[in-house]
Amino acid sequence: MALRSLGFFDVGNHDPLHTGDAEHLFAERLSKARACASDIGLPLFDVESNLQEWFPGVFARLHTLRNASAALLLAPLVRHYVYASAVPVWMTKLSPADSAYGDAVLLPLLSTEAMTFHSGTPSLDSIAKTRMISTYPPARRHLQVCLYEARNCSRCEKCLRRQLALDVAGGLQHFQKVFDLRQFFRARSWYIGYVLTYAAQNEPLRELATAMRAADYARYPEVTYRLRWWFHRLWRWLRRKCRRSVDRF
Ligand SMILES: [Zn+2]
Repeated sequence: MALRSLGFFDVGNHDPLHTGDAEHLFAERLSKARACASDIGLPLFDVESNLQEWFPGVFARLHTLRNASAALLLAPLVRHYVYASAVPVWMTKLSPADSAYGDAVLLPLLSTEAMTFHSGTPSLDSIAKTRMISTYPPARRHLQVCLYEARNCSRCEKCLRRQLALDVAGGLQHFQKVFDLRQFFRARSWYIGYVLTYAAQNEPLRELATAMRAADYARYPEVTYRLRWWFHRLWRWLRRKCRRSVDRF
């Protein structure tokens, strides 16, 4: 199915620090989304909502339902809506923490006579998706993943995770326009240790750890990286105790 238009919504995901002001970050991100849509050559629909006032709480719990409600406003102008799935279909389950795990079930149930929802790339996990976008030129110019800023901070957990995945896929050097790679290489060894340490408890980190092992990515024994993470964690704790600033992570 070829895409004919794009959507960008404010449904409660542009106020990561819960300040009550989502307007500023949404406007900045929308401007970047418009530049990306123009580069790709597709029209962009945007919806600014007050859903967060009605459903305060962690965005990830209900993001599928929130985004679908904004998308439904575009019907019948838009007949089919492809929701960028975060989780492959074989990991489908009911999760109270993240509605993405239920996309394969939720999206057909949310479809109406006017709009049919589809899960995008349901057969790809996050590493396979990273490999796919690593060769897509507009992604190299416009990829935005940061939890906190309109431009990728390159230091938060989500920025580091995507940079590491791109590096494992062999394409990170093509993303210098959207990431400050110096930040990544400064954090790389302790962040690898973080991924390996928590892979058993976190599905996206498990995918990343599996991909690193399959690609023989880590140069040193895993214990080296794990120790590096624990030293870094101790360093962060000491800085906080001394009332010194630490990066959001
Ligand atoms: Zn970031």
